[in-house]
Amino acid sequence: MEDDAIVLNSLETGESDLIITLFCYNAGRISAIARGARNSKKRFVNKLEIFTRLHVDFKQKFSSSLAFLNEAELNNIYPFLRTNYPAYLAGNVIRELLLHSIRDAESDSNLFRLTLWALYQLDMRMAPRTVVALFFLRSFDLLGYRPELSCCTRCGAPASSRPVRFDLHSGGLICEVCNGGPLHPPLSGGSLNMLNMAQSMALEHLDRLKPNSLVINESLRLLYGFARHILQRDINSWNVFSAVMSKSR
Ligand SMILES: [Zn+2]
Repeated sequence: MEDDAIVLNSLETGESDLIITLFCYNAGRISAIARGARNSKKRFVNKLEIFTRLHVDFKQKFSSSLAFLNEAELNNIYPFLRTNYPAYLAGNVIRELLLHSIRDAESDSNLFRLTLWALYQLDMRMAPRTVVALFFLRSFDLLGYRPELSCCTRCGAPASSRPVRFDLHSGGLICEVCNGGPLHPPLSGGSLNMLNMAQSMALEHLDRLKPNSLVINESLRLLYGFARHILQRDINSWNVFSAVMSKSR
C-alpha cells in the first residue's frame, strides 16, 4: 500500500530495526517496522526521523496490526524545524497532541493537511507560539471539540456585547451575567477577534494572522487548558516549550 505519511515517533527494536509511528493521509495512524533501518546504508538512512514527510510503501495484514515498511521516499525533512530549538519544541507539542488524539487506522485527511501546514510554517520561521495556537484551535474543530467563541453558551448573548470568559466544561464562552458576577479577568477583545478569525479562515490564509504577544499568551493559555481538558492528561512537552518561549521573548 502506498501513502503519504508524517513520522510521529520512532523506537529502536531488536538488533537493527525501528518501529515507527506514522500519520498517513489515507491509512491514518499506523505502526510500522522498518527492518534493518539502523544499519541499512541506503534504504532508510536518515529518512525515518520524527517530523519527516515521506511517501511510503507498506504491507499490513489488518488495519490495526503492525505494518511492514517496504520503501520510504523523502518528501520534506523540514531542515529549519529540525535545527531551531523553539521550532523543534513547538513541533514536539504538536506531535504529542497528535499521538494522544488520533487512533489507529482512522483516516483524517483534514487533520493531516493541518499537520503539514503547521510543520511547513515552523520550517518557514513563523512564530512557534502562533503555530501551536493555530494548530490547537483548528485541530479541536477537526477532532469534534470546536470551541464556541462567538456567543455565550448559556444565554446566547454575542461575545462582543459584554465581558466573557472561556469555560472548559461547556467548551465555550460564559458571559458576565451568566457567570453571576464580574470576571477576573475577562477574555480580551484582541484574543476573541484573533480566535474567531482563526476558526473561520481558509487554511491557506491562516499564515496572515500575526497576533501580538499579549493575544498569543492569553490564547495559548486558554487553548492549552482546553487541550488538557479534552485529552484528560498533560502534554509533557508543553512545560519545556513554554519555559523556553517565555525566556526568548
Ligand atoms: Zn450568558
